[in-house]
Amino acid sequence: MFDTRELGRRPGALKRVSRSVPAPQDLGIEVIGVPEGAALELDLRLESVMEGVLVTGTARAPLTGECVRCLEPLERELEADFQEMFSYPDADDRSRPADTGDDAEDDEEDMLFLEADLFDLEPVLRDAVVLSLPLQPVCQEDCPGLCSECGARLADDPDHHHDAVDIRWAALQELAGSDQDGEKDNAPRANGDDSQEK
Ligand SMILES: [Zn+2]
Ligand SMILES: [Zn+2]
Repeated sequence: MFDTRELGRRPGALKRVSRSVPAPQDLGIEVIGVPEGAALELDLRLESVMEGVLVTGTARAPLTGECVRCLEPLERELEADFQEMFSYPDADDRSRPADTGDDAEDDEEDMLFLEADLFDLEPVLRDAVVLSLPLQPVCQEDCPGLCSECGARLADDPDHHHDAVDIRWAALQELAGSDQDGEKDNAPRANGDDSQEK
């Protein structure tokens, strides 16, 4: 919860707030997120406007997760920007005639309100954080993932192979090799001796 009382209600008034708060539970998605209790650095700019307080800010926090390909733990830095309008409850009453249609009701669902000059940033923060996270975090851009045979992490062992796979490859290479031999056998015809061709 953030207090806006110091800001006052005069439109145009500005206040900057920097605060470090412990990250709430489940801030993130399944594969990556901010660990609960980690330092969440918030830089906020509160601006008093006619209808309420416009909050613009940036959140920074450490991220932990795992590579979606090889499951290796990974660490990242979160930086999420957000902007949200918190309306005065009475301003809302003024701006909303009693006979508004469905459109206004839909708008109302998206509105956030100041409660006794306080606003709750958490839902805004959650949306901003989730939007800024990589949906498919990887330990490295070209992570080769895990061996389909044994589950070993291929990035640790690029030459990793299995005998069963070797046999199949050997058979393929033998085929490929014999094709090449065939081409080599045909190669001498290029030496200009046309009579040998047919
Ligand atoms: Zn990986
Ligand atoms: Zn393997």
